[in-house]
Amino acid sequence: SAPGPGAIVIFGASGDLTKRKLLPAIYALFERNLLPEKFAVIGVARTEMSNEDFQEEVREAMLVNGDTVTEEFLHRFSYVAGQYTEADTFARLQTELERVSEVHGTEGNALFYLAMPPTMFEPIVKGLAEQGLLEEEEAWARVIIEKPFGHDLESAVALDKSLKRYIKESQTYRIDHYLGKETVQNILMLRFANSIFEPLWNHTYIEKVEITVAEELGVEKRAGYYDKAGALRDMFQNHMVQMLSLIAMEPPAVFEADAYRDEIAKLISSIRPLEGQDLGNISVRGQYVESVDSDRPAAGYRKEEGVDPRSQTETYVALKLFIDNWRWRGVPFYMRTGKRLPKKSSEIAITFKPIPHSIFKPIRPKDFNQNVLLLRMQPHEGMGLSIEVKAPGSKLCVNTLDMDFSYSDFMQGEDIPDAYERLILDALLGDQTLFVRNDTVEASWQLFMPLIRAWDANLENVPLCFYPAFSEGPKETNEILEGGSLQWRKI
Ligand code: NAP
Repeated sequence: SAPGPGAIVIFGASGDLTKRKLLPAIYALFERNLLPEKFAVIGVARTEMSNEDFQEEVREAMLVNGDTVTEEFLHRFSYVAGQYTEADTFARLQTELERVSEVHGTEGNALFYLAMPPTMFEPIVKGLAEQGLLEEEEAWARVIIEKPFGHDLESAVALDKSLKRYIKESQTYRIDHYLGKETVQNILMLRFANSIFEPLWNHTYIEKVEITVAEELGVEKRAGYYDKAGALRDMFQNHMVQMLSLIAMEPPAVFEADAYRDEIAKLISSIRPLEGQDLGNISVRGQYVESVDSDRPAAGYRKEEGVDPRSQTETYVALKLFIDNWRWRGVPFYMRTGKRLPKKSSEIAITFKPIPHSIFKPIRPKDFNQNVLLLRMQPHEGMGLSIEVKAPGSKLCVNTLDMDFSYSDFMQGEDIPDAYERLILDALLGDQTLFVRNDTVEASWQLFMPLIRAWDANLENVPLCFYPAFSEGPKETNEILEGGSLQWRKI
């Protein structure tokens, strides 16, 4: 259902995220009749722009996607130019919010989207609070913040402490756009809306789980941020841990914000601490070097624009994690993510245990391929299940059949909504379920701090391993995890 009246205020409205993701998401919601009937969008940034200039930016951002927007949509957009640290900016924003309440009927409700570098979160929230814009007596006020939520445990705790001076947790919407992806949410539907999987979803039947998020792209234009962050902070601490949580969590009694997020928090706190484990046996960090494939040339990471030529930043991480609880005791979760891998691919492969005994002599149990349930997020969202079947003919021969389901077939040409669409809609509806709660952010940082400290200290057992661009990642990935016996799925 469409939410009630409200305005969306975008801080950082001149930026990349606004153009590429937020404006198209707002337009798509409008097209699907999922925006409030009474809505307005106010852009805020330092760049000088008139309302008409901003509307032109909106029009152009949509044209990139081939959409021609109507006046009916555009006249809801206005713009406030100003410094994020000056009270005057917030005073003018308040005047604009009052105007849109009057003209567009938004009733003083406001969703503030901070599409800004995190250093600006605190000054903006402070400015909003001091202007009285975060009070919720007659209207609601919510704030969406974008990752990164801190750089390590200490800074995440400090960020949260500084925000909490001005906003309540119930007003804070930490966005992890992975959680808004249809196929990621489909993990929950698969697990908890079918009766055939859940009985098998434990250490008795599952041998291992493999989670891969591979990118084909290199660092592109994000070196300024990425060279300080690296793959662990950019992908693992947030998206990968969230994916692991959805696969491994216990069912909440109801799919509601706190019941659901309590289960995620419980799961993350059950991951075996890295502290005390031999990190050399459970982790690999890598960095891409120049491609060796003459058909697919690419520079090494250290040669990329904006990257320190002696950079120690990892562009690849593989980890073996265990979850120390009743359900998952002893099941390894192999997880890897990296840039400049052979192709863009996000998938979760769940391998079931071998059959206990073969009645088909002389075929031995180990001659059967183990069943694999494959959940594909990208590309070709969908799922697959490999099962053993009899090869046609008079002899008893076994073959593997890959049953394959593609989400797009099911959608019959309808577009799969973008993650930002879903998440902006949820925030307008006041539903925090798919937003990350602070305790899970901190638990996740807590988990990875031993690794971060070991890498920072360049300890001998956790060397930086190099891999050619577009290869499958560092060769050490196989050697280190399971002493070479582990076969990762091909990317
Ligand atoms: P951006 O383009 O670098 O910044 C957005 C706007 O913020 C800029 O247009 C600029 O506007 C203002 N700004 C930039 N640096 C500033 C500074 N140091 N001090 C004050 N204002 C500054 O950022 P973005 O790529 O849109 O991303 C916004 C947020 O989303 C970030 O937290 C980022 O980590 C997160 N994010 C982005 C993406 C993406 O695809 N871009 C994906 C995931 C998460 P004015 O100069 O006009 O004020």
